[in-house]
Amino acid sequence: MKAAVVTEFNAPWQFRDLADVHPAPGQVLIRVRASGMCGTDLHVHHGLFPLKPPFVAGHEPTGDIVELGAGVTDLKVGDRVGVFWNQKGCGRCALCQRGMPARCANSSSWMSLGGGNSELMLAWASGCQLLPDGVSYEDAAPIFCAGYTVMSGLRNATPKPGERVAVLGMGGLGHLALQLSKAVGLETFAITGQADKTAELKGFGADDVVVVPADGDVGARLNDLGGVDVVLSTTNLAPQIASAMNGLRPGGRLVNMGLPSEPIAVNALPLLLGQRELRGSSQDERSDLAEALAFVASGKVKPKLETYPLARINEVRERLAAGKVRYRAVLLHAS
Ligand SMILES: [Zn+2]
Ligand SMILES: [Zn+2]
Repeated sequence: MKAAVVTEFNAPWQFRDLADVHPAPGQVLIRVRASGMCGTDLHVHHGLFPLKPPFVAGHEPTGDIVELGAGVTDLKVGDRVGVFWNQKGCGRCALCQRGMPARCANSSSWMSLGGGNSELMLAWASGCQLLPDGVSYEDAAPIFCAGYTVMSGLRNATPKPGERVAVLGMGGLGHLALQLSKAVGLETFAITGQADKTAELKGFGADDVVVVPADGDVGARLNDLGGVDVVLSTTNLAPQIASAMNGLRPGGRLVNMGLPSEPIAVNALPLLLGQRELRGSSQDERSDLAEALAFVASGKVKPKLETYPLARINEVRERLAAGKVRYRAVLLHAS
């Protein structure tokens, strides 16, 4: 099987022929049809994750099951599936026993089995989600990281009817967060540093687009508009996250899904006086993934994609690093 292999960090990924693999008990083999490229793949490229080359990245894969491992009874050969990050907990620790395998310290992910930038990939059956009928492989792919992450973020923000949401950062995650927030019926602002995205963001349903440069005061701008109850933050700019906290109304919640390299400096006074909340969120309940996929199937959410053949993966990664991708790049695999 052909795969794009990370042979060393900070170097172009190499196309290699890898030995055929077969699923162990509890696993499936998937012919990959599409795989999204996520901002996290840049961290992987730079060696910020506990991985040792050579390995195959790609954590937004979709494809068809071609082989079942022993004991897999709920999936079938030919099923259209996607695979999410934490595929299986250890099953035995306190968190797994409490039904929280995604929080297990010894969970299995693409990092142990190999990712989707490959003709074929292994996955744990428990990490596969069926694709709804009518949803294409490429539209489904970004839901397995970006869409899942922001749907969990939205649910973890516990928005009430009539509340106002702002989405900070308008990339792969942000443009889906915006559409999902609109899909559940909430007034939603989009915050971006790129003024030329304004018309497109209104097209995604934004009730208002707030253009703030990277060093601008997000909180002040939100307060000019009356403040917001929820900020869904997808940016990696720590000062912007801290600033956005000041744009929350009393009782407001900022849900951080970005991965800034520096600490978020939050002022304690507005936090305690307004009983505001800062919380982190990542891919959480499996129902969040199902809900996000259902919104895509219903047409209420439409990932805005750039698609490329897998052979152009290095160019796509560089384009992502340069901030040029609108809004998610998905690699298509030859069928
Ligand atoms: Zn991701
Ligand atoms: Zn566990």
